[in-house]
Amino acid sequence: MARKKIIAGNWKMNKTPSEAKELAALLAPLVNNPDVDVVYCVPAIDIVPVAEAIRGTNVQLGAENLSDQNSGAFTGEISADMLLDAGVKYVIIGHSERRQYYHEDDAFLNRKVLKALEKGLIPILCCGETLEQREAGVTLDWISLQIKSDLQGVTAEQVAGMVIAYEPIWAIGTGRTATSDQAEEVCAAIRRTIAEIYDAGTAEKVRIQYGGSMNAGNCKELLAKPDIDGGLIGGAALKEEFGRIVNYNK
Ligand code: PEP
Repeated sequence: MARKKIIAGNWKMNKTPSEAKELAALLAPLVNNPDVDVVYCVPAIDIVPVAEAIRGTNVQLGAENLSDQNSGAFTGEISADMLLDAGVKYVIIGHSERRQYYHEDDAFLNRKVLKALEKGLIPILCCGETLEQREAGVTLDWISLQIKSDLQGVTAEQVAGMVIAYEPIWAIGTGRTATSDQAEEVCAAIRRTIAEIYDAGTAEKVRIQYGGSMNAGNCKELLAKPDIDGGLIGGAALKEEFGRIVNYNK
């Protein structure tokens, strides 16, 4: 069965609650494509107003982070139950900005993946190499290591429903996109890694996104590749351009 494309916006630390409502209203008429799952991953404080703003539309809600704990004395953290109660379905885990600036390592991210799955949230698990790693020729080994570490203890059934986002760090927010061949090479390697850990049938089900300066100009070529099942979009998710990416096939 063909995998349905999934285009997710990562709003990062942008938009106050009132600005978030305005952006959701601006995008509402632009993001309707029945061939695509559309997700807005928004700052925690925007989850409730955006949930309200997208009610009755095809857009689904995502968070940018979650706690690895259930509840209790973890000041500043947000639990899976809180996200679910607010209408969140997806959660980004392991974005390179969290790995880099907040020192989230693979063992911690693995706990977050397990917590999300246990509670019924769909992880969008990010992986990606630095420019130095790409130039040293270790990209595929590095990505495979990240995936294997982050998926410890995850069952085949669980991983089949997950989303994995390949995001080369050198392409995030830089305007420098991986070529479609570079992106496809790594996304195909991720699928092979899943087949190696689990089985070929499971690998065929998991959806793999490309992220890194994807925009209305380059999305069509990237999304035409056989192992690229969608995009995780940063900068271009905050403007009307997001609608053109969602409608890449029109
Ligand atoms: C991201 O942060 O996930 C991302 C892909 O950002 P951008 O599209 O701005 O490169």
